[in-house]
Amino acid sequence: MKINIIGGGVSGLSAGIYLQMNGFETEIFEKHSIPGGLCTSWKKGEYTFDSCAHWILGSDVGSSFYKIWNEILDMKKIEFHNHEVRVEVGLKNNVNKYGEKVFYLYTNLTRLEEYLIDLAPEDTKAIREFIKPMRVMQKFDLPPILDDLPFFPSMIRGIKMMRYLEFLILFMKIKYYTNYTYAKKFKNAFLRESFELLYDGEEVNMMVLTLPLSVFDKKSAGYPIGGSMKFAKKIEQNYIRLGGKINYNTPVKKIITENGIAKGIVVRNNVEHYSDITLSAADWHYTVFDALEGKYVNQDIIDLRDMKKLEVYNSVMQFSFGIGKDLSNQPHFSRIPLDVPLVSPDGSTYERFEVHIYNYDSTLAPAGKTAVTVSFNTSKTDFWIDARKNNRPLYRAAKVELTNKIIDLLDAKLGGIRDKTEVIDVATPATFQRYTGNWKGSTQGWMPGKNLVAKSPVGFRLPGLKNFFYSSHWNQPGGGLPIAVKTGRSVAKEICKENGVQFKVIKNH
Ligand SMILES: Cc1cc2nc3c(=O)[nH]c(=O)nc-3n(C[C@H](O)[C@H](O)[C@H](O)COP(=O)(O)OP(=O)(O)OC[C@H]3O[C@@H](n4cnc5c(N)ncnc54)[C@H](O)[C@@H]3O)c2cc1C
Repeated sequence: MKINIIGGGVSGLSAGIYLQMNGFETEIFEKHSIPGGLCTSWKKGEYTFDSCAHWILGSDVGSSFYKIWNEILDMKKIEFHNHEVRVEVGLKNNVNKYGEKVFYLYTNLTRLEEYLIDLAPEDTKAIREFIKPMRVMQKFDLPPILDDLPFFPSMIRGIKMMRYLEFLILFMKIKYYTNYTYAKKFKNAFLRESFELLYDGEEVNMMVLTLPLSVFDKKSAGYPIGGSMKFAKKIEQNYIRLGGKINYNTPVKKIITENGIAKGIVVRNNVEHYSDITLSAADWHYTVFDALEGKYVNQDIIDLRDMKKLEVYNSVMQFSFGIGKDLSNQPHFSRIPLDVPLVSPDGSTYERFEVHIYNYDSTLAPAGKTAVTVSFNTSKTDFWIDARKNNRPLYRAAKVELTNKIIDLLDAKLGGIRDKTEVIDVATPATFQRYTGNWKGSTQGWMPGKNLVAKSPVGFRLPGLKNFFYSSHWNQPGGGLPIAVKTGRSVAKEICKENGVQFKVIKNH
């Protein structure tokens, strides 16, 4: 049975791998010249700039996500780096008892707890209340992957579910807490300001902060040395080894349908490729409203398009610099307050800027030199996409204006980098949209709503369309690499089920 897959990002590649393992003949059509989609890095001069894999859930042997990654690439071949400090947050208003204006978010929970209590012994009770839920989370392999246990009778699955009861009770208790409500619990002003700034000044659900911290402590969310492209290429090589075929530089224009059945795709020069099943692992909006011309929708889908249910995840302005200087003494990731807010040409105002210094990955720059990125989230993505399309001089001028400001900021922060800057690269929401097709340049699909366990708004199927499936980070608010790989796996299982094939995983490395 032949399956055409649109998109060679992590979701499309993983779906392709599992389908090849289960006897289907698959062919991926990818618009870019490389695999990985948003999971990418690129070379400029002597430098490699990374854009994605700051942390990959499942980098430790034994966790359920490690097992999944290991099914689609040889995880032993990837070296992961685990940071001691997740981020250094610069404060504006408060100093701690050591005269420092920097808050260290340690990844080791014991160290973090000791650090917090040392800074604010008066808040010991609140600090312990902050740490305790993460210790509870650590007892569980989160998220539970129960659908992977088809051979267990339902009673045993029920008992396994019961194990998660403690987690569910905890979740119900803290599900409405945010970093702001937590900050209010502290008497210590330094801790209060630190907690308010933990997520770039935004108010977010505590789970968004505590779940990653609980896995960082277990060294289960490392950075893959070599960067995102090396990681994606390993998955692509495995797909090809399993007999999969991948066509690069082949954007899919349309999905061919007849009487409510997907029949194939149309690519460049109006070449048609027919198949028994079509699986789109490309952008959700493009798939539903362009490739399928909005013919297979219901009110829920229309509401999603009109953003009545969820918002699109922010895009990113990423400024990458190749600096001919050893910056090994600098923090790898810091958030620095600005004396004067930075106003972007897109209308966003920033009170802080984020710097990633890749001094822990020697493969990204020659010895004695360093790849550095500065990034800003933006929701004003239409400005960049429209300007690039309709007013290229404005687009270029806006990039130059911001780049110059950022070089000034970096020079002030790192000292003497202006003359050492050998390479500059700027990626805007228009860049992310152009290279990967993601709607509005979204970096992770949908923004998670208030209810973190909300049912997925985008399903594996579309109403009224047979022989068609969909998978990508748009399937689950929050997105990210774990969702991409998991949706690829789950959609392959769904296809197996529909075609009477017992899903299996072949160990092939
Ligand atoms: C700056 C940044 C930082 C991030 N940090 C992290 C992180 O630290 N940890 C984490 O887990 N995740 C992170 N993410 C998110 C993660 O990269 C994505 O959620 C994930 O890679 C999405 O994978 P996907 O396969 O679902 O979609 P995509 O990567 O978007 O793949 C879709 C593929 O379809 C192709 N395509 C689109 N349209 C067509 C067409 N018409 N024809 C043919 N092909 C088409 C695209 O070119 C692309 O290759 C980050 C993303 C960004 C941009």
